[in-house]
Amino acid sequence: MEQHPGFVAAVEEAQKGAAEGGVPIGAALVSKDGKILGRGHNMRAQNGSAILHAEMSALENSGRLPAWAYEGATMYTTLSPCDMCTGACLLYKVNRVIIGENKNFMGGEDYLRARGKEVIVLDNEECKHLMEKFVKEKPELWNEDISI
Ligand SMILES: [Zn+2]
Repeated sequence: MEQHPGFVAAVEEAQKGAAEGGVPIGAALVSKDGKILGRGHNMRAQNGSAILHAEMSALENSGRLPAWAYEGATMYTTLSPCDMCTGACLLYKVNRVIIGENKNFMGGEDYLRARGKEVIVLDNEECKHLMEKFVKEKPELWNEDISI
């Protein structure tokens, strides 16, 4: 699963975010038939955005799609999704959420499961490394975002 193009894209997006000096979290929305609908990374610092977390960026970059396009879709994200992104996954009826890691932040995984979604945590080293480095180097930026 760590080789899946959706997860690879999410990690690339997180790396892009790090290179831009932002919060290194990436995500990709993948359709039932395995096509990447959209990908993106946290744009809080870059855009001064209050809502463009990685998952929201991926949804935004997917464009305005008909409801059927989200059926059976998977959201790949490098970090456990916060309440806002958990809610967005539920709103768009994403079927499955695959998470790089939840050691640096634990979001709405139990709620997703309670709502019948499949949740898989990969405990990926690269995702953990990106976040650990970021939290250590820019605690103020992390603390003004979703914080822990
Ligand atoms: Zn979020």
